Amino acid sequence: MNERQKQVRLARFEELCRARGLSVTVQRRVIFEALLGRSDHPTPDGVYERVKGRLPGLSRTTVYRVLETLVDIGVATKACAPGAAIRFDPLTHRHHHLICMRCEKLTDLEDDEVVSRVEWPDVRARAFQIHNYSIHFHGLCAACRRKAEPGKSISSAARGGAKKEKCTHRREKSHGAKRGKKQ
Ligand SMILES: [Zn+2]
Ligand SMILES: [Zn+2]
Repeated sequence: MNERQKQVRLARFEELCRARGLSVTVQRRVIFEALLGRSDHPTPDGVYERVKGRLPGLSRTTVYRVLETLVDIGVATKACAPGAAIRFDPLTHRHHHLICMRCEKLTDLEDDEVVSRVEWPDVRARAFQIHNYSIHFHGLCAACRRKAEPGKSISSAARGGAKKEKCTHRREKSHGAKRGKKQ
């Protein structure tokens, strides 16, 4: 995310806070800025470590609560990796993730081809309402592959072995219960 994009996101954040009757506190702003500057999907602890120097007296609980508020007002999302710690994401548009099974590194994957090929399942019979989806591809990152297969060139990557999994925990506003359509 470049400087200009960050400024736009910050302005939108302030606008949404005001619309919700929330004050733009220094804590909220600093925590949101810290999240905007990262693409590694930090845990609340990761965000806390990053901002604690700028916010004396800050607790981990507060960081967690502010991150949840950011998700509630729609300026951040939760990246869910089942079984792992909850991670936060400054990207709010639909995208996918590559998850390393060894070091749990989570990288963004923006791929319109993937999005357009996915058909939304009909789950009305289960009384479940799908709001969004995100695909997690599980595998090994370059660093972990280097450790696992020393001496092997990682560019000659073998395909396959990746588990596919859909996550519907993300929330996207104005998406409602629309099904089968790309936004
Ligand atoms: Zn890894
Ligand atoms: Zn992401």
